[in-house]
Amino acid sequence: MTLILDKVQKKYGEIEALRGISMNLKPGEVVGLLGPNGAGKSTLMKILTGSIEQWGGSITHEGLDLKKSLKIIQQKTGYLPENNPLYGELFVLEYLQFAASLYKIKEAPFTDIIEKVGLTEYTDRKIETLSKGYQQRVGIAAALLHDPEILILDEPTTGLDPNQMVEIRKLIRTLGKNKIVILSSHILSEVESVCDRVVIIKEGQLVADKNLDELRKGQQQIIIVEFDYRVETEALAKINNVTKVINTFDFTYEIHLDTQEDMRTKVFDFAHDNELKILGLQLKNENLAQLFKETTS
Ligand code: ADP
Repeated sequence: MTLILDKVQKKYGEIEALRGISMNLKPGEVVGLLGPNGAGKSTLMKILTGSIEQWGGSITHEGLDLKKSLKIIQQKTGYLPENNPLYGELFVLEYLQFAASLYKIKEAPFTDIIEKVGLTEYTDRKIETLSKGYQQRVGIAAALLHDPEILILDEPTTGLDPNQMVEIRKLIRTLGKNKIVILSSHILSEVESVCDRVVIIKEGQLVADKNLDELRKGQQQIIIVEFDYRVETEALAKINNVTKVINTFDFTYEIHLDTQEDMRTKVFDFAHDNELKILGLQLKNENLAQLFKETTS
């Protein structure tokens, strides 16, 4: 099951939004489409979801040509648009039933999907009463109703707090195990924390295509955390594998660790044990930052 993009091009009048994008996408990896504003990310997503009709090059999925078999491929594609438009006054299950009827999906496995995205306890809640993170799960559930092979997520974690980020990230990674997942972002840390592979686009051209684990090799793990209160750097230095702690700003700390294991959960445990709240948490990938800088500036 491979999605093959070959020299995909799009012009809006004189503006060349995409200038020949080629790549292969397979299930089992979450691909981050990264690029500055105006790079062409949304245009590419709109082409993939069929909302732009006139474009050049070719896209094939399992041998089917997107231009000739748009309807069939659309039935295999789930899409979470950037602003995740929901109907706040509807109840969760009611909304999903409505979305299924809109897309003429006869028998959606609502219970399974609701469980998969962690909404079981919220089915009889009105969407407007849910937090942004849970609303995002409703949007993802709606995109999963027809069990798509391809899942397209436009800026899925924008506006979420760090705890919600961790949850949605986990969910996206689970979905990525057997689906082709593409997410767009202009935020390095979002791609860093959710994706296995990064594709950088600049002015409509593909300027980098890298596996993030490869990119992480040979670099220290750096976690940037903001607490709601001051902590002694010595206390943070006691977390396993910590080599250095820098208090970069007020209650913000840069923790350097000498391990490949993702240590953010340990920082969560530290906060919990010390009755601190985490206001911000991200992994800093200096190699990704460097690559982004080199390819986009
Ligand atoms: P991104 O999602 O990376 O911010 P877009 O795909 O939205 O980039 O835009 C790529 C380029 O195409 C930009 O120069 C943008 O101004 C232009 N563009 C996007 N949509 C339209 C449109 N409907 N009409 C004209 N130009 C557009």
